[in-house]
Amino acid sequence: MTRVVDILVPFALDQAYSYRVPDGMALEPGDVVAVPLGPRSVMGVVWAENPSPNPRIHNRMKDVDEKLDILPLKSELRKFVDWLAEYTLSPRGMVLRMCLRMGDLGPERERVGVRLAGPPPQRMTPARARVMQALADGMVRSKSEAAHDAGVSAGVINGLVDEGTLETLILPPEPVAKPPDPDYFQPDFSEAQGAAANRLREFVIAGGFSVSLVDGVTGSGKTEVYFEGVAEAIRRDKQVLILMPEIALTAQFLDRFAERFGVRPAEWHSQVAPRKRARTWAAVAAGEVPVVVGARSALFLPYTKLGLVIVDEEHDPAYKQEDGVRYHARDMAVVRAREEKIPLVLASATPSVESEVNARRGRYARLHLPERFGGQHLPSVEAIDMRREGPPRGRFIAPRLAEAVKAELERGQQALLFLNRRGFAPLTLCNKCGHRLACQNCDAWLVDHRFRRRLVCHHCGFSMPTPEKCPKCEAAESFVPVGPGVERLEQEAAELFPGSRILVLSSDLVESMDRLRQELDDVAEGRFDIVVGTQLVAKGHHFPKLNLVGIVDADLGLANGDPRAAERTFQLLHQVVGRAGREEGRGYGFLQTHQPEHPVMRALIAQDREAFYSAEIAAREAMHYPPFGRLASLLISGGDKHLTEQYARKLAAISPLDERVKVLGPAEAPLAVVRGRFRFRLLVKSPRAYDLSAFMREWLAAAPKTKGTLKLEVDVDPQSFL
Ligand code: ADP
Ligand code: ZN
Repeated sequence: MTRVVDILVPFALDQAYSYRVPDGMALEPGDVVAVPLGPRSVMGVVWAENPSPNPRIHNRMKDVDEKLDILPLKSELRKFVDWLAEYTLSPRGMVLRMCLRMGDLGPERERVGVRLAGPPPQRMTPARARVMQALADGMVRSKSEAAHDAGVSAGVINGLVDEGTLETLILPPEPVAKPPDPDYFQPDFSEAQGAAANRLREFVIAGGFSVSLVDGVTGSGKTEVYFEGVAEAIRRDKQVLILMPEIALTAQFLDRFAERFGVRPAEWHSQVAPRKRARTWAAVAAGEVPVVVGARSALFLPYTKLGLVIVDEEHDPAYKQEDGVRYHARDMAVVRAREEKIPLVLASATPSVESEVNARRGRYARLHLPERFGGQHLPSVEAIDMRREGPPRGRFIAPRLAEAVKAELERGQQALLFLNRRGFAPLTLCNKCGHRLACQNCDAWLVDHRFRRRLVCHHCGFSMPTPEKCPKCEAAESFVPVGPGVERLEQEAAELFPGSRILVLSSDLVESMDRLRQELDDVAEGRFDIVVGTQLVAKGHHFPKLNLVGIVDADLGLANGDPRAAERTFQLLHQVVGRAGREEGRGYGFLQTHQPEHPVMRALIAQDREAFYSAEIAAREAMHYPPFGRLASLLISGGDKHLTEQYARKLAAISPLDERVKVLGPAEAPLAVVRGRFRFRLLVKSPRAYDLSAFMREWLAAAPKTKGTLKLEVDVDPQSFL
């Protein structure tokens, strides 16, 4: 009897293919194999037995080439792949591919060590003498360690090897992660912290699926508290995954972790070098890595004994992957924890409305940390009504904010001016004919970036020097900037506060992560007086001398038609204002706004988070927006506007009929053209208890094939509506 198995390959295919198992090859579901696919041999994973194969088609099947020397994928991970693919309507092979991003599995480069073995060299130099002294203990060191310890170059070490003074040995590979010590350092907890830590510990001890929301203002000790859950998991020999929304935060977190556990955790994200990835992947699969800190892709690693997952800054929009497989890492972490039957911890000072609703309804356990550690007050916040007390024309800092900044600087303190807009000005127009400089590929204005001396499109990256003359009326020197970006704000600040040291922090100006860290340290150590920054400065940094935060345009995020605009604005501004007064004195925040009565502004001023959530939850419920209803979006794009729109209309016309589901559109997308492609959107709304993925699948199965440049993209639970 021929044995047949179904094998999933990591390509844009939803189906697993059947292969014959050669005699004598022991295969189990989850095993990683090589199989022929067309002319190639590719990696695949045994997904299932195929118990009732039809003997007549056996002859047309191919054999599995070989079983690879890679640890198998556990059934929990395979179920997770199936679930995620089905939910997001992605081909299963593409989800599997995220699990198999194991880097370069090529041969390990050997680590060479040296130790003192032979007679002293013929010719002695001071450098050589230092090496002899540093290695006098006879211990083996890697070449680079030896060079470092002796304060010499690698050449000196190699010279001594050639002379026979040092002998070389092959060292075992360095472990990916050393064992963390759960009792390395434990802080004294406040009562609320201790209570929260105890409950987390209990969840880990009890095992089984649970979700807790660690909810506390910035600086309340959320990290310290969830570290107790991590410690408990380590004691029980379980693996822990800590997810961060951004790579930059991951890097900062490593040392923080080492202060608590004595060693750094393993790191996983797209910037980890291939060889390191390969070793980390294999070590995670072997259960040798106790703790992984990573960006969303770390969710797909083959943990063997996962015991706890933590999602830090769970509200952060960066958890949504917006290309390829579109998934939300926080939501999928919940799914993974459910499959693995383990506890999950969400942490945030401003939880997502989704998580807040779950906590209010008791589906998530809320672990509340009501105050900042050390009794620091939260900053007090005031509005500056731009309709009544705004700055003069062409200026963006209102007199009252300027006064407050001046007073801070006189007291030797720092101020942060926040504006979530890169560049000098978002729009440039000709003051003779009114012509606006727009991108040639997109339906968007070009943003003036003066530091780089270019006009840049923020959607496709197109850039050009500012033209000498207006392309329309040919007037010379007629361009005027409209509206502010951080670079323009810096200019204004330099005029208002002469002699102050100003730093602009904006992602487009970051040359490297190291450089950014240096600049942040400079701010923390008081080498700048004023920081002008975009959302790059909102997260995770601690500036002891910063007492004042001015939000230059608090209304900026409210303008777009995104159902989450209010929530996002509240979260971002709360976080930015929270940078003030973390250590000394009392912090102040100023919101420059045209709508001080807006619920977001009122909640920020009154420090009434509950009021904001209650109002926002009521509004979502009334509109049947998430989490009270489900959304999916279809984006149809193509190089020809007419054909694209036609296809979108056809698609709308054939949608399955179900009175519980509303199909809105097609409408031109808010960003109607990007990279020369015309874009149309359909939005689908259903009740909460409805299988919207199944509805979408049925619909797309009936959709006409996309031809030429036409492209159809599905997004379940969309976060972006542009
Ligand atoms: P959050 O994650 O809520 O922003 P953190 O855990 O980062 O808060 O804590 C903020 C700061 O306070 C950190 O420097 C942390 O080490 C310190 N901290 C918090 N709780 C304690 C404690 N119980 N003992 C000593 N330091 C603490
Ligand atoms: Zn563009």
